[in-house]
Amino acid sequence: MQKLFKKSDLIIIGGLIVLSLIGAAFYFFVSGKKAAKAEILVDAKLVQTVDLSKNQTFTVTGVDGGTNLVVVSDGKIAVTDADCPDKICVNTGAISKPGQTIVCMPHRVVVQIKGNSTDEDGFDGEAR
Ligand SMILES: [Zn+2]
Repeated sequence: MQKLFKKSDLIIIGGLIVLSLIGAAFYFFVSGKKAAKAEILVDAKLVQTVDLSKNQTFTVTGVDGGTNLVVVSDGKIAVTDADCPDKICVNTGAISKPGQTIVCMPHRVVVQIKGNSTDEDGFDGEAR
């Protein structure tokens, strides 16, 4: 019975696997670092830019004087409490990927994550 691989082949294959793992880890690290900002818009106007690498909690005041409690933790951002009637923003949960949004229609508050990996400028009209 002949061996499928020679020892030198295994070393080369092993080396390629290690290289690809390093490449993947590097890509993950770089792309993960870039998606680190979220924008808070009230009535389509930018009121705050949030660094998602810093854990923080703050309140956003909507157009009708209502409030949304925004919590940033572990690179994710969420509206954990709000005094709007529908609570859709609260039920959306935490978001962390570029392009994802949390929308509070009654307060006209939008939380959107910005990233450099894709073109996320402008709204695509997607309703959530
Ligand atoms: Zn809401």
